[in-house]
Amino acid sequence: MENTLQFAQQLDRQDKLKHFRGRFHIPQVGGKDAFYFTGNSLGLQPKVTRDFINIELEDWAQLGVEGHVHATNPWVEYHDVFPALLSKIVGCEPEEVVAMSQLTINLHLLMVSFYRPTKERFKIICEAKAFPSDQYAFESQVNFHGLNPKEAIIEVEPREGEYVIRHEDIIAAIEEHGDSLALVLLGGVNYYTGQVFDMKSITAAAHKVGAYAGYDLAHGVGNIPLHLHDWQVDFACWCSYKYLNSGPGGVAGIFIHKNHITNKELPRFAGWWGHNKANRFKMDKEFNPIPTAEGWQLSNSSILLMAAHKASLHIFEEASFENLIAKSRQLTNYLFFILDDINVSQEHKVIQVITPRADNEKGCQVSMLMLERGKEIFTELKRQGVIADWREPNVIRIAPTPLYNTFEDVWQFGEIIKKLLSEK
Ligand SMILES: *Cc1c(COP(=O)(O)O)cnc(C)c1O
Repeated sequence: MENTLQFAQQLDRQDKLKHFRGRFHIPQVGGKDAFYFTGNSLGLQPKVTRDFINIELEDWAQLGVEGHVHATNPWVEYHDVFPALLSKIVGCEPEEVVAMSQLTINLHLLMVSFYRPTKERFKIICEAKAFPSDQYAFESQVNFHGLNPKEAIIEVEPREGEYVIRHEDIIAAIEEHGDSLALVLLGGVNYYTGQVFDMKSITAAAHKVGAYAGYDLAHGVGNIPLHLHDWQVDFACWCSYKYLNSGPGGVAGIFIHKNHITNKELPRFAGWWGHNKANRFKMDKEFNPIPTAEGWQLSNSSILLMAAHKASLHIFEEASFENLIAKSRQLTNYLFFILDDINVSQEHKVIQVITPRADNEKGCQVSMLMLERGKEIFTELKRQGVIADWREPNVIRIAPTPLYNTFEDVWQFGEIIKKLLSEK
């Protein structure tokens, strides 16, 4: 690899997915395309999204309530399109996945089914520095069961002086708490460091001690290869507005392993959209769940959000997830290379990358711990058209995403930082 414009442009010319960038609205800064590196926070808008939503607005205008059955895409069955699309992205069978509701709500609903503490078995293992909403969900679930979060929630931390959590420490915690462990619940990809957890062996370790394993894949879905079914993961949830580009507050999704979808012993909070479709509208008394992940749905579908979700997932389908992963790795490895080169060009190291380097331990996000002038550099980056993300106390998160970022974006980013460092 080379830290030159020519080299970056050559990689862009060779990129099989290069034409996809033109299918997105790129935010403008000072009349120019921004360097948009926050697809891990809010993915960009596909240009077709507006058309997909307009179809539904038009049908609603023309048909009113009749749209449920007579719209171009009848609303009662609108969500049926998602299992086929999402199952390829999360690696499962269509009946194990459903697009519904919102992430934190789904996390609660899944914990209703999979966190059923007893006197003996009541602990949850999670990662230290889990996303705040997840921490609040875990704590409030524990409180809801009349337990003490300080005793029930076990956080696995990085070791002293380290930033990512060692796999062996997660496994050791699972074994240590063994019989008292109810649930292992991690972010599949940590939002802060970009570390990818080895979900397959963590799940196996949880099952070995008799606990369930579930994952919040907000930063995993659409970013890393997932094989939830084969890994025997019990459940997972995610949002669609980050890497899945489905719009702010977009419709979320859940996965429930086939082993559990017909298990009537599992409690759940039920709603009419989870009820057997054949007699849903008979408005009968007794809840009779659909024998798939759909049985966890509560409310009728958010059609406008789902239209945006569908528009975006069609792009994933067209690009193919394998191609996206291949480019993602190349792009992120190029960013690693550029950052290493910047460090070498300075008198001493200024950027410490805390994201692991191995391909199976990272997605596209790179978290840069700024050893000096962090906030100042971040502010200046923003002024120069770089849309990145700042996390206190001194981390800049950058996520070059394969659908719309270019190798030149990554090179330009490095140039801007280099120039800022030389201007002190
Ligand atoms: C983005 C994110 C959330 C946000 O939750 P919402 O319910 O969609 O607001 C929650 N958890 C994690 C891990 C996230 O990355």
